[in-house]
Amino acid sequence: MIAMQDVQKHYGDLHVLKDINLSIPKGQVVVVLGPSGSGKSTLCRTINRLEPIDSGEILIEGEVLPAEGRDLARLRSDVGMVFQSFNLFAHKTILQNVTLGPTKVRKMNKADAQKRAIELLDRVGVASQKDKYPAQLSGGQQQRVAIARSLAMAPKVMLFDEPTSALDPEMVSEVLDVMVSLAREGMTMVVVTHEMGFARKAADRILFMADGELVEDTDPESFFSAPKSERARDFLSKIL
Ligand code: ADP
Ligand code: MG
Repeated sequence: MIAMQDVQKHYGDLHVLKDINLSIPKGQVVVVLGPSGSGKSTLCRTINRLEPIDSGEILIEGEVLPAEGRDLARLRSDVGMVFQSFNLFAHKTILQNVTLGPTKVRKMNKADAQKRAIELLDRVGVASQKDKYPAQLSGGQQQRVAIARSLAMAPKVMLFDEPTSALDPEMVSEVLDVMVSLAREGMTMVVVTHEMGFARKAADRILFMADGELVEDTDPESFFSAPKSERARDFLSKIL
């Protein structure tokens, strides 16, 4: 579903992605762990070319992601992304937030888009909020709307970059529960998170990054019980 081959990226002198190679099959749930500044967000953002890369290739379903143009827009729309900050459109209702992409980008008719949006809002448990504006919802509700909005584009892959980091603690689980159910339904997911409970419960695979390098690529059981690298042991000792 996603492949990265010899991907390199710098910000000026900072080598932020160092020769990343990985291949993520359809349906796999990958959790990306690592200290702050290790390149996790950059990795996510390169997967849909929100950030350009210096060299190497990124493939979505075997198709090389181009640097620009119509093919980029098409491939990018196959990749949903949910950020730490919810990024909802403040002046649109919850329902409008979810129907906007499908009607404007996918050219879906309004009635179909609304029907689908309500199904998705129902699935994430916020259908009753559909006529409100983002600021009238809690952070946890807003983040669930953001997930529904991404799903409305029928993505093949979902990227999550610390989706619960900005939430009050009591709202973390309502968002993680939605992510766990997506994972169980077979969505291909790349999730940057510090929620080790989620990693243990939902991940098929752990990627551990440090200083722009992919240091470990293993299953959760091995990672948590017997991390191979000193850097992963050090990371785990600080968070567990
Ligand atoms: P993480 O998500 O693991 O905390 P990031 O991918 O955000 O790490 O950042 C990796 C490194 O790249 C950090 O040192 C960060 O300061 C730097 N960085 C991130 N974005 C930019 C940018 N737009 N310009 C310059 N440096 C950046
Ligand atoms: Mg980050």
